[in-house]
This record gives sequence, C-alpha cells and structure tokens, in this order.
Amino acid sequence: MFQRMKPTKNNEEPLKDSFERRIDYLRISITDKCNLRCIYCMPPGGLKFFKEKDVLTDDEILRFVRIARSHGLRKVRITGGEPLMRKDIISLVSSIKKTGIRDLSITSNGIKLSKMAGPLKQAGLDRVNISLDTLDAGRYKAITKGGDINKVWESIKEAERVGLTPVKINVVPIHGINDDEILSFASLTFDKNYHIRFIEFMPATCNGIWKKDKCISSEDLKKKISALGRLEHLKFRGKGPSRNYRIKGAAGVIGFISPLSDHFCGLCNRLRLTADGKIRPCLFSSIKVDIKTPMRNGASDDEIDKLLCEAVKVKPQRHLLNEDITSAGHLRAMSEIGG
Ligand code: SAM
Ligand code: SF4
Repeated sequence: MFQRMKPTKNNEEPLKDSFERRIDYLRISITDKCNLRCIYCMPPGGLKFFKEKDVLTDDEILRFVRIARSHGLRKVRITGGEPLMRKDIISLVSSIKKTGIRDLSITSNGIKLSKMAGPLKQAGLDRVNISLDTLDAGRYKAITKGGDINKVWESIKEAERVGLTPVKINVVPIHGINDDEILSFASLTFDKNYHIRFIEFMPATCNGIWKKDKCISSEDLKKKISALGRLEHLKFRGKGPSRNYRIKGAAGVIGFISPLSDHFCGLCNRLRLTADGKIRPCLFSSIKVDIKTPMRNGASDDEIDKLLCEAVKVKPQRHLLNEDITSAGHLRAMSEIGG
C-alpha cells in the first residue's frame, strides 16, 4: 500500500487565477500514443507521435506534481493518449499518490485495464473513467477502428470488483453514429451505480469529421432521457464540469458535460500538463507554458514554481467556442492534450 510524502514546501498560497478561481485540479497526459483510433479523436492513420525523448519522464512529472501540490493541488487525473500504454504506469500512480494527492483518477479506453485494475488500486488509484461510445460490438469496432468491446466490459467489471468506484463511463454522443443508443446508456444506471457522462462532441480538427450539426446538446439529451423517468438534479459535488442527475429511483448517475452549449468556465479549477511538458491553462486556448525545457536546463524548483504561477495567471476567463468555433483551431486531436 502507498504511504504519503510531504509536498516540497507547505503553506504556500493556494493557486488562484486572475478571475479568483482556485486551481486545484491537474490533468496529466502521460503519453500521446494510443492502441485505438476513435473516429472523433484521431485520424485513422494515427498521428505523428512525440519522440520518446520529448515525453516527460516519471521524475519530471513527479517534480511538477510536488510543486503544484505545495500550492494545494488536490486532484489529479491521468490521461493520454491511452495512459495504460505507458510501461511504468503502476509505479507512476503510486508515486503521484504518495505526494499526498487526495483524488487520483485515470481516464482509459478500458482495453488493457482488466489486468491492471487490481495493481492500480493497490498503488493508490481512487477511481477510473472508461470511454465507451456504443453498446454494440460491431459498432464499437467501427468507432474505435478495431477495438474489442468485450475487453472494455471485462475492465468495467474488474474496476467495480476492486473498488475503483464509482465507475464513470464517458460517452460522446454524435448524430448518425450513436444517437440511437442514448436511452440504452441512460438505462444502465437503473440497476448499477454507474456514472454515465455524456460529453458534447468537441471540434478536434485532425480528422475533419466534426460538424456542428453532428453535436447533440446536453439539453436535447436531457429531454430524450426524461422519457425514462423524472431526472432529479443532484447538487454539485466538487467543482467538476459535469451537471449531474439521477433518473428517479435509479442506482446510478447521469452527467452532462457541455463545453459547447453551456460552458462551465466560471467553475473551472483545472490545468493540463501535456505529455511533452507544456502547461495548458485551457483546453480551448492555444496558450502553453513549457516546463520541460527549463527543467532539462537545470531550472530550480522556484523557477518551475514561477512558470506554474505564470500559467495560472494567463488562464483565460472563458473559451470562445460559442462565438467563434475556429478559436479551437489549435485543438488538432484530443489525444495530444488529454481530452
Ligand atoms: N484514451 C483514453 C480514453 O479514451 O478514455 C483517454 C484519453 S481521451 C482523449 C479522453 C476523453 O476524451 C475520452 O473520454 C474521449 O471520449 C474524449 N474525447 C476524445 N475526442 C473527443 C471529442 N472530439 N469530443 C469530445 N470528447 C472527446
Ligand atoms: Fe485513443 Fe482515447 Fe482518443 Fe480513443 S479517445 S483514440 S482511446 S486517446
């Protein structure tokens, strides 16, 4: 089992951005590589991936987490690409947890998770989000360009068994792809405490499939799901972007993440760290602050701390997707930034 370590320094000021939002959540992309090619995320032929030497090492990731932890970082999500493609993932999870992170989770496509769920739990992982956009095996293969849905279900069951709970299932609803399965996904919550999270389809430009009329707004989803029973609004827990509901009498939760139709920027508490060592204060902004080059050039912790504070200061107040969809033009592939 894991043991807590003290952060580098204590009693630092908590990170607050220029709009008084407290920043205490870091999403770390630990690789841009992936074993799937989901049609809404990556081009079918894949991308030109980062060279191994350009990806942050465990020590560099940990150093950054410790520095952010000294400012009150509480929550870390590990993502990618597919985070379970990284060889040292179990020890990395264990080391991140030991810095004292309260809530440590992973977003995974679930292909490799069934065998790793137990060791990840042992290493200190608290929870897992698993991406699954259809309940049909043939369609899953088509959406992911070859994935085996049985492996994902094995992972969901194993995650439940070892206590990586509540298991959250991320679904990106897209007109003409999986819009006929909204009710089937929502119905999964009747008997099981799954958290089904519908994420609005976002404009990643690398594969040219995004079109506004393919997006399904959270409002439309809610109306559709209301046919199954009354949707009871659940109070926000934490400051995540998901607006959460329960169908009356159901065991699980249905969450709606609406970056396009109802942006949640006022509540945003997060920063992103890309696999190649750039802090991205906002998914939809091209602003990035490089920490890898200074780290490799011998920067002190104080210098890295200053870069962190600078990235927080320049975090935009809100994204402009609703006014100008091309403002996300830099968002080539979600796998590059971590979704
Ligand atoms: N490979 C892991 C997975 O699929 O769960 C983690 C990385 S993936 C980039 C993180 C999340 O981003 C997934 O839940 C995925 O469905 C979501 N995502 C990818 N492309 C998206 C898009 N264009 N719009 C909305 N969500 C997207
Ligand atoms: Fe890979 Fe996740 Fe992107 Fe699918 S959504 S291609 S699993 S990174």
